[in-house]
Amino acid sequence: MISTLISYPIRVFLLLCFLSLVVFAQKVERISVGVDKHLYRVYITLTHPSWFKFIKDPKRDLLIIKVPNDKKFEREFYSVLIKGSKNLITLLVKNPKLDVYRAKAIKRYRTIVVLIPFKNTRNAPYKIVIDPGHGGKDSGAIYGGVKEKVVNYQIALKLYHLLKEDPRFKPYLTRWGDRYISLAGRQKFTAKVGADLFISIHANANPYNPNRRGVEFYVLSDKGIRLKIRDLVEHPEHAKAFFSETIAHNRYLTKEVAKTTLEITQDEGEEFARILQHLWCINLRNLIPCGGIYKRAFAVLKVPGVPAILVEVGYLSNPTDRKILLNPSDQWKIARTLYRAILEYFDLKPLKEGK
Ligand SMILES: [Zn+2]
Repeated sequence: MISTLISYPIRVFLLLCFLSLVVFAQKVERISVGVDKHLYRVYITLTHPSWFKFIKDPKRDLLIIKVPNDKKFEREFYSVLIKGSKNLITLLVKNPKLDVYRAKAIKRYRTIVVLIPFKNTRNAPYKIVIDPGHGGKDSGAIYGGVKEKVVNYQIALKLYHLLKEDPRFKPYLTRWGDRYISLAGRQKFTAKVGADLFISIHANANPYNPNRRGVEFYVLSDKGIRLKIRDLVEHPEHAKAFFSETIAHNRYLTKEVAKTTLEITQDEGEEFARILQHLWCINLRNLIPCGGIYKRAFAVLKVPGVPAILVEVGYLSNPTDRKILLNPSDQWKIARTLYRAILEYFDLKPLKEGK
């Protein structure tokens, strides 16, 4: 028999090895969710009782549980995305009614219970960051004496006023007036606000083909995601602009959290782009021709966790588009279409009919 061939200390050692294997093969056995009037609860049951660490990042709507876990999973309940990766469970709270600031986690034997209270205010407004492209020393494209930065700002300001009149929104502009703001500055501002949606407004130009017309929509590319993750992992000082200190100072946490949140930026950005494209094709196609949705690694689109889009509202290098983009009543039409896309994205009805 083997047992008689192995000495007692070695048997004890092997037993310990086996036990530690069991402990380290810890995984999430079950996830369930409960919702009542005041609380949203997530129950995460593990195969064994174990330690855990709870990290909150309310600005990014993130809850993180560091816990021994070997199983990958991804589920969404009531707009809370629950993602499991190695030794980490990430909860991305997309439901705007939930108060991430007041969230907490407790342990009951093998189960970690995450409690997220509902916000006290009945309707916390959606924060929309509008980004008029270029500004100050950076004019953007210039055609026929028209500077892109001016057109971008005029349209952005009209969208700002439409959102300002609607109590369900709190709009922000990345720049007021003709000021130069760096791309990093625009990203940091959007992260600081904790925006629910980011819209960058630009006007296009094609120096080789003045006949080129139409709107184009840009969302974050896979390459953009990869580059941003690498930048944040290699530079904790950059990561600090987007995540809490605890996350920014841990490379593994930064990597996992950046991936999850940037995928949201991309997915949700695409969803908004599809809505806007559809509305544009219905409402504005006789004004400025409808165009496609493209993926790019533009800097302003890389704010983790914030759905982001860049709209090239038309071609300044084309005389027809240029005339329309300069016309205040057409600018209002563009701003109104953007506003209606925002309503549809958040599943809201117009305030009043008409107009
Ligand atoms: Zn531009």
